[in-house]
Amino acid sequence: MDATAHFVLVPLMAQGHTIPMVDMAHLLASRGVHVTFVTTPANASRMESNIQRARGSGLPIRFVSLRFPCEEFGLPQGCENLDCVTSTEHAVAFLHACRTLGGPLTSILRQQNPPPSCVISDTMQYWTGDMARELGIPRFMFSGSGGFSHLFSHLFHQNKSYDKFPGSLCLPEMAKFREEMMEEDCRSDGVVVNTFSDLEALCIDQYQEIIRKKVWTIGPMFLCNRDAAYIAARGNKASVDQEQCLRWLDSMQPTSVIYVSFGSLARTSPSQVIEIGLGLEASNCPFLWVVKAGNRSAEVETWLSQGFEERISSRGLIIRGWAPQVMILSHPAIGGFMTHCGWNSLLEGIASGVPMITWPHFAEQFLNEKLIVEVLRIGVAIGVKTRTPWAADNDEVLVKKDDVVRAVSRLMGEGEEGEARRNRSRELGHKARAAVEEGGSSFANLTLLIQQIKDGINWTKE
Ligand code: UDP
Repeated sequence: MDATAHFVLVPLMAQGHTIPMVDMAHLLASRGVHVTFVTTPANASRMESNIQRARGSGLPIRFVSLRFPCEEFGLPQGCENLDCVTSTEHAVAFLHACRTLGGPLTSILRQQNPPPSCVISDTMQYWTGDMARELGIPRFMFSGSGGFSHLFSHLFHQNKSYDKFPGSLCLPEMAKFREEMMEEDCRSDGVVVNTFSDLEALCIDQYQEIIRKKVWTIGPMFLCNRDAAYIAARGNKASVDQEQCLRWLDSMQPTSVIYVSFGSLARTSPSQVIEIGLGLEASNCPFLWVVKAGNRSAEVETWLSQGFEERISSRGLIIRGWAPQVMILSHPAIGGFMTHCGWNSLLEGIASGVPMITWPHFAEQFLNEKLIVEVLRIGVAIGVKTRTPWAADNDEVLVKKDDVVRAVSRLMGEGEEGEARRNRSRELGHKARAAVEEGGSSFANLTLLIQQIKDGINWTKE
């Protein structure tokens, strides 16, 4: 049987989870697969450029926008993405609200032609397990993270020692969610991971063995983006003029600039922002620094604009808000990346062949740091051992100016150690790009996954 395959993608509405699934939609559709991408009105309007791109390309991607019940769950209107959530109570309410999407989605999917052949859904959208069973189709789990953290999170879960590592979210309500999530993951028909075999083959093999199901490595998926304008607008509208940013990067020496960004969710306290700025200034290294909108308290803005920006103007650029990260990282001027160790950021850094300063903020980011620093040896740890508090009124400083200077000079400096790290990073970059080309491991895995779905193989587990 070689029927038309129809994949239903259900991401968690958080940038680090949604963005790779948008890439997944394009990858699948470019192989002739029909894709339904599930979102909500506020997220759909943020993803306008993705939706337009899909329409313009003629690729078979359908965006289904489901009403998100903010009011019923005590969430502010329009709070349809985890990056709008400002308290742990709202985070829990947000996850409860997600669960209500199952009914309406099932009704829509029942009427679709071709009918759905499988669901790939975020681990946190675990209600999709029930939905897939109701529709009689397989469900694959996707978490947005890499093989190393999949493996260790699973081991922590098995040994009931999940709150032993520093990034863990210990809230009892969250623990209950995690339990349900993990149980549903165990029932899934396979796992799709945004990674590539040459990066973490051993972890993937072990993970596969302990969960006793196929793990499909199909990344780095972001490399499917070839169009420059789209890359610049990926995820959100960038807060900087793309041309201006490129002109600035072009004016810098090759591999001389450190790019500093902590993803879409991490919050940096005003005092910590200032400390980072002082460290970057004292490092004497050219830098491109993303200061997110949420961090722009009046104090930070005053500090940036009253002297700092002028002092660093010849070698520093600040982006306030959303940065065109993939475009920046792939520019030849970038020689290092200070990152919060979100998996997408790490993959983007790896595929660009750039060594990193690791500064994990929460959750599996601490595990990801270990992979980068200890296993792959392409990073320098800034030295953070505890989770960054998430509360809006937090003003803690976990990393001092001198820690920033030390890490930057170790990463960007000359000498054998730095050179070897740079060589390892470059080599991994080549391997990452080769993995998604025809003949590469990720390319082949995606072909196989699609074929198995088309063949309608029996997904029932032993
Ligand atoms: N991102 C971006 N510009 C920004 C901040 C983030 O393009 O200013 C993108 C980044 O390239 C990555 C994603 O948002 O693809 C963030 O995902 P990640 O897993 O790194 O971290 P999270 O935001 O989930 O903590």
